[in-house]
Amino acid sequence: MNKTKIVATIGPASQDKQILKQMILAGLDVIRINMSYADYDFCDDVITKLNQLNEELNTNVAIMMDLNGPTIVVNQLKKKTVELKEGQIVEVYTDERVGDETFFSISYQSLVQELKYNSHLILGDNEVVLKIVDKREDVLTCVVEKSGVLKAGMKVISPDCKLNLHFLTEKDKQDIVYAHEHQIDFLALSFVHSSEDVLEVNDLLIQLNDNRISILTKIETEEAVEEIDEIIRVSDGILIARGDLGVSLPVERVPGIQKMIIHKCHNEGKVSLVATEFLASMENSNHPTRAEVSDVANAVLDGVDAVILSGETTVGKYPIEVLTMMEKIIETAEKDIPYYELLDSAMRTEEEGITGSIAYSVATCANRLRCVAIVTPTVTGYTARRISRFRPSCPIVTLSSDEAVIKQLSLCFGVYGVKISEFTSFDKMMKQSISSLKEFMDTKEHDKVIITGGYPFHEVKHTNFMRIEEL
Ligand code: PEP
Repeated sequence: MNKTKIVATIGPASQDKQILKQMILAGLDVIRINMSYADYDFCDDVITKLNQLNEELNTNVAIMMDLNGPTIVVNQLKKKTVELKEGQIVEVYTDERVGDETFFSISYQSLVQELKYNSHLILGDNEVVLKIVDKREDVLTCVVEKSGVLKAGMKVISPDCKLNLHFLTEKDKQDIVYAHEHQIDFLALSFVHSSEDVLEVNDLLIQLNDNRISILTKIETEEAVEEIDEIIRVSDGILIARGDLGVSLPVERVPGIQKMIIHKCHNEGKVSLVATEFLASMENSNHPTRAEVSDVANAVLDGVDAVILSGETTVGKYPIEVLTMMEKIIETAEKDIPYYELLDSAMRTEEEGITGSIAYSVATCANRLRCVAIVTPTVTGYTARRISRFRPSCPIVTLSSDEAVIKQLSLCFGVYGVKISEFTSFDKMMKQSISSLKEFMDTKEHDKVIITGGYPFHEVKHTNFMRIEEL
């Protein structure tokens, strides 16, 4: 049973119900729907299948909707693809004209006014790079600095200039309403520049009276990296989007930023996720490269909460094998996690308070006594989150009558949710904690377990007990 969670993006390669089922059985915790590609018919289909599978398999796989964000894209072209060669001149317009080898248009009208001479446009995933050499009222003249293939819909980034794109687009607002109506668990926000962008989405969720959805902020711009402390403070978690981050910034800066953000999130008690190209070679091969295996293992050793698969499960040939491989790499890497170091570092930044103190004691005792599990009956999931931050070496089995709470915890390191009916007394809670644990995992006589929580439910606002049981 792995503690580091796996998120898989769903696409044509994994939309089939039987494939999705095998992916869940191989260790999938959360599915991601990328709204840059998905329409509502696709979302309806995937959500229906996932709900049926959760019912059939008695699982709680949660759903993340990744918003498109304020992106600029290449408009229609006369051909499916157009080859741009280094040194050639190409004109970029801001109307909707259909492009060819010598000109094309993009979806942002103020681009010409906002871009400076000698700044760059990066198209797609760094596939084509253009340098602006001249500008007139409605057109930029560019020289191709890096040859490549141009396609309609490719993302356009200008790393040298700050554009005045409004963060929340009309499409994103509609998608948030859809997410609310379809009980989506996590929203991932693309191209955030500041904490105000995150607060804007938070305000919209308050207007919708939604207290289910958690906000994960994607870090993919230089401004977001610069404002990381404030962004972590207002977000429920941080998703390090290495694809776009490696286009906005020099690619060699990404590993250091990844480590820095995982560390900060851990110290702030927020979940961290890392995305993109973990097992990219497995899109076409049933085996990863050694460097890819190291990449996954290093994220795990740094104490990340979840890793995300993208192309490997959306268009790759081996979506099930990728899940199995990811699970295997995580399982092995977790044996080498520096649990005591992570616990110490969390302890140094823990605020003084009752819940934090009990959570620290629970994690310390669980490690010292080699407990097989920590069991937390919970109303809101708060106790489980606080314990997860101390990275105990055994699983944190969380019992809740609320499926939404269980799904919310599905990105937290080491936390597993089990649905139960509400307890009516402390004694019943203790008995049910042990019986639910035995149903959830294999245990032996004399195994030690810690049961912890806040009781009476709905009355206390903090964790107020821990009990060590020998089975
Ligand atoms: C990324 O850029 O790494 C990422 C996860 O974002 P997207 O898939 O939306 O490009």
